[in-house]
Amino acid sequence: MEARVILARGRQNRILEGHPWVYANEIETTEGTPAPGDIVAVCDPRGRVLGRGYINPASQIRVRILTRDDREKIDEAFFRRRLQEAWDYRHRWVKGSNAFRAVFAEADRLPALIVDKFADYLVVQFLALGMDTRREMITRLLDEIIRPKGIYERSDVPVRQLEGLPERAGFLGPEFPTTIEIEENGFRLLVDVAGGQKTGYFLDQRENRAAIAPLMPGARVLDCFSYTGGFAVHCAGYGASEVTAVDVSGDALAMVKRNAELNGLGDRIITREANVFDELRRLETAGEKYDVVLLDPPAFAKNKAALEGAVRGYKEINLRAMHLLPPHSYLVTASCSYHMSEDLFYAMIQDAANDSHRRVRLVESRSQAKDHPVLLGAGESRYLKFLVLEVI
Ligand code: SAH
Repeated sequence: MEARVILARGRQNRILEGHPWVYANEIETTEGTPAPGDIVAVCDPRGRVLGRGYINPASQIRVRILTRDDREKIDEAFFRRRLQEAWDYRHRWVKGSNAFRAVFAEADRLPALIVDKFADYLVVQFLALGMDTRREMITRLLDEIIRPKGIYERSDVPVRQLEGLPERAGFLGPEFPTTIEIEENGFRLLVDVAGGQKTGYFLDQRENRAAIAPLMPGARVLDCFSYTGGFAVHCAGYGASEVTAVDVSGDALAMVKRNAELNGLGDRIITREANVFDELRRLETAGEKYDVVLLDPPAFAKNKAALEGAVRGYKEINLRAMHLLPPHSYLVTASCSYHMSEDLFYAMIQDAANDSHRRVRLVESRSQAKDHPVLLGAGESRYLKFLVLEVI
């Protein structure tokens, strides 16, 4: 008989609103003895089935719901259908780039599965046990539906510990050269899928990189936290006269140089290996001014507890950036921490503007690209804030 997880009284609302996670402390009883990764029914206290998903008895996130349709069987055909749907969605919404997120986990109703497509290759992350146990089937289905030239796994992420899984990275199938050239918004970029950060490249900013084009003609730009130069190449390509890319990672900056050359923009992109906090202070002391300062830091708040320190960090870089911006210049500022809410982010910017005696107006507020859709009811899937602000 099918194993069943019965929710405690009053615990079904979040799930009814669309959130796919069932926490261990929300469960009254588990009927049957499901093995790790097995499909179980999730039931309300009266025994009504709310959905079905995979279980991990070792994780605080005990069940991740895959379907809410009582008649839908979770078999290979199910995963084929879901992957095909995700693929069809990208064909509709992604244009002009051959690199995008092909599967965005919970938001594609495939919890804990990330698939990024870089030109002819795929990079996958299995972030929970229920996906990890199905890795061979998923890999086979991705081959069948997307027909990539190769697949690389980048499950070398600490969250796997919460699932009792080791970190893992490597080829799933035949080997291939792991530095891949992609095309994004008409620019050519190299992505190191084996040695790069996360899956190799931050695809969620793709549409935002294109959105800043109107700011660029003739501009002097400071690209902070540049990584491999996704923004820097776009800025120079859209007409910036000079772009300085700042990052602590020498490897990332070496890639910025290669990417600049690849687009014939080597003469307009400068790299500087430095801590952005120090560099912004130094530039201010030196009296430097820019037409555009871009801030795309890593997630300062990885959890709720780290939020206070994170807000201080965000405020410091935004404040210091404003000191480099004269009237009629622009601050382009992002946060990829889910825990830093949009309201908090605005309040932080307001604070930084007050302290730096700048008046600022909001030109555009954006989020992640459409290949990273937001599942309503699961707030975690909306994580990227991206503001274009004019200093007036
Ligand atoms: N803007 C990039 C993504 C940035 S990811 C893009 O569009 O692709 C964050 C980057 O910040 C990483 O490359 C990391 O090396 C760098 N970084 C983290 N802390 C830093 C610091 N204090 N100073 C400078 N760079 C930092």
